Amino acid sequence: MSDTVLADLVQGLAAGKVRLVDLTETLRPEYPTIQLPPEFGQAWGFSKETISHYDDKGPGWSWSNFSMSEHTGTHLDAPAHWVTGKDLPGGTVDTMPLQQMIAPVCVIDCSAQVAADKGFILTKSFLLDWEKSHGRIPAGSWVFLRSDWRKVADPDNYTNMQADGAHSPGPDKEAVLWMIEERDVLGFGTECVGTDAGQAFAMDPAYPCHHFMHGNGRLGLQCMTNLDLLPATGAVVISTPLKIIDGSGSPLRVVALVAG
Ligand code: MN
Repeated sequence: MSDTVLADLVQGLAAGKVRLVDLTETLRPEYPTIQLPPEFGQAWGFSKETISHYDDKGPGWSWSNFSMSEHTGTHLDAPAHWVTGKDLPGGTVDTMPLQQMIAPVCVIDCSAQVAADKGFILTKSFLLDWEKSHGRIPAGSWVFLRSDWRKVADPDNYTNMQADGAHSPGPDKEAVLWMIEERDVLGFGTECVGTDAGQAFAMDPAYPCHHFMHGNGRLGLQCMTNLDLLPATGAVVISTPLKIIDGSGSPLRVVALVAG
């Protein structure tokens, strides 16, 4: 590697030859947090309380307290989020390798399919077809499912909950195992509220993306946005979770570097 590599990056950023794309939703109370059946514990949404705002509580300064779960807003799932990954080394956000926080990404454009079917299931054959156009998914890459979900989903029913559960896109078991075993991906990311399809509770095993990705030390990113601004290949994702002790996941800013 050239000893000018970092200088080239800085110059590329300054010259606009490397663009930064924000893949992060703004943390705000109204953004939906995943809801489990009532017998289970629930994740907190985002809330914020002013400590002072240039007033009697603090005349010269503004600051706030906030609260939320590890899995609120745009966030990363670490392997320890799932029981299958609970004992893996480096499986929590405070112990995961720093190198995993900067990685290339392959963006699978499923927006047309999701527009026609919000419960679209990503299959191995769809991924193989994608590779015919864009080349082999490199080891260590993120795979992102681009759904343009913010444009497709009802803002008042963002998870697209129906009488029989949520209907949102995600991969099936065969696609998940292929990404892990045949392509050695870093993890799987999506614009929806979970890396698994809305109907994945009924799959075998339930939630195959969580089950196998995390059980194999892989990561998840969800509640992203702006995936339509990324090229199919060649972008690099920076995703640095908060260093929460024993954290199963973390809200974070996800930024992509895009050349050209
Ligand atoms: Mn999560």
